[in-house]
Amino acid sequence: MNKFYETIKKAQVAGRVLVSDGAWGTFLHQRGLEPGECPEAWNRTRPSDVAAVARSYVDAGADMILTNSFGGNPFRLAHFGEESRCFELNKAAAEISRTEADRARIIRSGPAKIQAFSAETARPGLTNTEDPPAWEPRQVFVAGSMGPSGLMLAMGDVSEQELYEGFRLQAQGLLAGGVQGFCVETMSDPIEAVCAVRAARDAAQVPAAKNGWGADRQPPVFCTFTFAKTTDGEYRTMTGASVEEAITAVKEAGASVIGTNCGGGFTQMIEIVKEIRSFDAQTPVLVHANAGLPRYEDGKTIFPEGPEFMASMLNELVAAGTNIVGGCCGTGPDHIRAFVRVLERAHKR
Ligand SMILES: [Zn+2]
Repeated sequence: MNKFYETIKKAQVAGRVLVSDGAWGTFLHQRGLEPGECPEAWNRTRPSDVAAVARSYVDAGADMILTNSFGGNPFRLAHFGEESRCFELNKAAAEISRTEADRARIIRSGPAKIQAFSAETARPGLTNTEDPPAWEPRQVFVAGSMGPSGLMLAMGDVSEQELYEGFRLQAQGLLAGGVQGFCVETMSDPIEAVCAVRAARDAAQVPAAKNGWGADRQPPVFCTFTFAKTTDGEYRTMTGASVEEAITAVKEAGASVIGTNCGGGFTQMIEIVKEIRSFDAQTPVLVHANAGLPRYEDGKTIFPEGPEFMASMLNELVAAGTNIVGGCCGTGPDHIRAFVRVLERAHKR
């Protein structure tokens, strides 16, 4: 089985929760990315700044990180005249995240555990296979971020075939740079999400076949939607799809991890996960939650939910059926560190 997907399933069976990363864009802006500038171009022009974001999440204890490729599809890149560099910029995004993730292959625990590790390796015959050692090298996985095109299928801006081909090119670049999975995210239109999921799955299928891999060795495709609560109290995407309609469509297209990202904060995420679990008890669920609904004060965007608040709600989010938790807009390494602490205290890591 693909190591990434295997890790997710094993954690699910063992009742453990994996931690993902937080926001990227905010931190690139803090490092000088101008409002009209192409974030993905920084994978080539400012790789060390992009790497610093990735590293901050690896250091915070994340089990997986994404890539600086949210707007890396040719449709979004076209706003900056960068569409011809789609493959290149996505490949660079993946390489940066992989380099930082692979740096994490260090001993997970403190000095006492390191000594135990040395003693074990000196006498390998004593290894107790039934009780997995706490000194297992830490592995951080990389999922290639794939955000929406910004075009509307319903308005005739683009065709499904064009979307599919654009997303496939992006996925090919991410794969060439070493991603171990894909994260199709912030989706609103289930039809567009299906195009992206199929494109990622098909892009992975070609190299997999070349390597003689079976279907189970292919990089997993995650897909998360953004839902908002309507005045009727129901959750819908911006295009009007219900939670069940959206999730079912991408599962049929081959998404093996489902969930929700962005949105209106932790309380709403808990309700959405409960709704997902009402029709799907099995598929791993990923939540990348915003730090609450943003407010605008004095020309600044303020996210109300700090690391302590979000961490205080985490056990409830997990109890609702979440398997992987991370942050979206307004979250940073401090949120991720707080999640890791809560899960360790609850013995869910
Ligand atoms: Zn967000």
